[in-house]
Parts: sequence; C-alpha cells; structure tokens
Amino acid sequence: MLEAGQFKILIDCGLDYEKDHHIQSNENFPFRPEEIDVVVLTHAHIDHSGNLPTLVRLGFEGQILCTSPTADLTELLLMDSVNIFMHKVDKSRKRGKGKYNTNAQPLYLQKHVMDTVDRFVNIGFNRPFRINGDIELTFVPVGHLLGAAAAVFKINDHGIEKSIAFTGDIGRKNYPVLNDPDKLPPVDYLVTESTYGGRLHTKDKTVEQALVEVIDKACVKEQGRLIIPAFSIGRTQSLVYSLNKIFSSGLLPPVKVFVDSPMATRATEIFRKYHNLVNEEAQDFYNKKGDEFEFENLEYIESLKDSRQVSNYFEPCIIISSAGMLEGGRIQDHLYYNIQNYYCTILFIGYCAKGTLGHRLLRGDAIVHIKDRDLAVYATIKQTDVLSAHGDHDDLMGTVKQQDREKLKNVFLVHGEASSMQALSDALEVEGYKVVVPEKGVKYSL
Ligand SMILES: [Zn+2]
Repeated sequence: MLEAGQFKILIDCGLDYEKDHHIQSNENFPFRPEEIDVVVLTHAHIDHSGNLPTLVRLGFEGQILCTSPTADLTELLLMDSVNIFMHKVDKSRKRGKGKYNTNAQPLYLQKHVMDTVDRFVNIGFNRPFRINGDIELTFVPVGHLLGAAAAVFKINDHGIEKSIAFTGDIGRKNYPVLNDPDKLPPVDYLVTESTYGGRLHTKDKTVEQALVEVIDKACVKEQGRLIIPAFSIGRTQSLVYSLNKIFSSGLLPPVKVFVDSPMATRATEIFRKYHNLVNEEAQDFYNKKGDEFEFENLEYIESLKDSRQVSNYFEPCIIISSAGMLEGGRIQDHLYYNIQNYYCTILFIGYCAKGTLGHRLLRGDAIVHIKDRDLAVYATIKQTDVLSAHGDHDDLMGTVKQQDREKLKNVFLVHGEASSMQALSDALEVEGYKVVVPEKGVKYSL
C-alpha cells in the first residue's frame, strides 16, 4: 500500500496460488478495506487480482485503475475463480468432517465479481493520469501478459516531487506475441518483483527450436500424442502463435492441435480485440498470413463432449489444456487417460507449485493419484522454461540498472521467495544499490 497524506492506494490485491484460499476464513487484510481510496491493478494474473472481489465484499468502495486488456482478462479470471471456489467448497462439504469444513463458504460469489468489474477505470499506457491534485499515475508496459504494466507514481509532497515505481511482474525480451518491457522512467524509489532472483532461464534454444525438438520426437518420430498443460490466459496464446509459425513455415509436417479450454478461447478473443498491443512480429505475421491464433489443423474445443472425443483421437496430436499445474480443469481427464500411455509425452512449460500433480510428475513419481485412482506413469515427462513469462535474474538486474543511479534512493524487493529476494538483494548490493527486503506489516517513510 502507498500512502500519500491521507490518501491510501492499494497496489494489486492477489490470491496466493499455493495456499488454499477458496473459502472465507483467510480474509486477513492488514488494513480495513473501506479505508482504501483507490486500487491500482498492474495486471490480470490471479496472484495480483484474485482478492479484489473479497476487498469489495468487505467494504472497499473506491475505483480500480488498470489498462483495458487487464480489465477484460481480470473479469474472465475472476469469474473462473468463482467456479473453482464452488467446486472446491462442494468437494469439501461432500467429504464432511475432519480437516474439511462442512460450513465452508466460498471466498466470493459472482455478484462480488460483478461489483468489482463495475469499479474498473481504464487507463491507457504511457498516459499520465491524475488521481488527485498531488498524485499522478502512469502505466508503463512491462511485457509479461497482455495489458501488464508497471505503476509509476509522481507525488507532490508539500512542494517536493517524489517518484516511486511498482514494477508488477516484469516480462522477457523476444517473448512470442508480447512486446519487450519498456524502460521505466527514472524514479526515487523502485519496488520490484523478484520471482527469478538468483535464477537464469536457459537461452540455448528459441521457443520454436525447443518446441520443434519435442514435437518432432513425440508426434512425428514416435507417432504419439503430446500434452501441454498451459494457463489459458497468455501462455496458451503465445504457444498457439509459436505453433502457427512452426507449421506455416514447414519446419514440421502438419500435426493436429487441440486447444481444450473454453477460457483459452475467450482469452484469445481478448487478444484479438487488443491486436494493436501485440508485438511487431505478430502484427507482421497477421498482415502476411492472417490470424496468428488460427491455422489449419488447429481446433478450439468448447463442449465437454468434444473434450472427451479428443481422448479418442488416435492420430498423433498436440493437446493444449489448462490448468498449468494440473490441479483441476480438463487437463485432469487427459492425464487420466494418457498417463499410462507409452506413446504420450507431457511437456511442462510453466512453474508447478509444491503439492500439485505437476510437481509430483516433474519430481519423477512412478505412481500418481488422479481422480481417485493410483496410476503408474508410463508417459514421458519433459519440461522447458522457454515460455516462462517472467524475466530472469539478469532481466531484473537490468531493470534496476536502467535507473538513474544518482536519483534512485532505494530498491524494495517484493513478490519472490525468500531465497530469490536474498540472491537479488546480494547482487544489487555488490553493485552499490541500497536494497530493502521489506518485512510484512512494516511501514517505510520516503
Ligand atoms: Zn504475473
């Protein structure tokens, strides 16, 4: 939270993926929701937006400032969250006593999402917006996800101008569909994410090279099927576009591709709507070859009936389905029917939190539990980070180093595991930057 005089601005309001936050009981905001004047939302991902309806349900009455694509994608994600909550609450009620709470109430309902969406005020990229007489906000594009922005504030503190930037999540260069992150203007204080602090992405292969290698083995040589669990929003579109480039340039013989996620279909519509915001390469592709999210042999699956049919498709194929960490979603069905298939490859393109099925498969478990059955794993498990949407350690360092050294007084690290924050903090301190790893609940006066 950022306080300027009496004015309180909350930057993002997310849900923690790794905790069981689907029921009411975790509403421990360290402030009263009604005292927040305005929320600034950097991007749609649920770990940044997922608690907004809780905030509204508990009394927040202000506006939520974000870019237009963020507003559209967030609405889609929050509606999906409600479905996930209902599903989980149902399940825990059915299981009854013990560790499950039979009186569990979902964290929020559809009507709270509607109330939240009503509060969105859309602000364009790089257009300074006056929040009040003393506070100006500018959204700077950071790649990462369509609509994602860093929030840069200029604050008039009794005649002295102070500036502070919150990076939100920082994307990567040369990422399919998305623009590279823009350079942030020089600020006095920088609050940066640190997800990949101390870790580097592999850079020996491009996205296409990595995909061609896996598809060639799984679908062309072995004539089997390739299942790619992918988040419906962002990751799926970048993947589909990359496959489009691969097949349209003849790098591989044609292979049937199914995108089995109704949410991915809707998210793709939003990507089409904001076509002016995709990167130059994708625009160019569109102008020369047409829709970057459509190609021969690509099929978007809507109904559950059609989804079941995909399991009966016996030609080599690629199945892209949600959810990324294999917790729930249609992907569960595909794994259930394919995990014991020697001619199946499962390719992970994202992070899998501990405790998820994805994590267990990557760990190399020989037997996994899916839908109340223990199944032996005969499928080939693979992983690549070429489609990670986060900048790595070097990208994070680069974001700080772009700043004016004389002007920058402090760097605050947030949004990373303790070890990542420590690694980034150490590296920045070696370079002579003043770094703070803030503790929860501690206030800093700037
Ligand atoms: Zn994100």
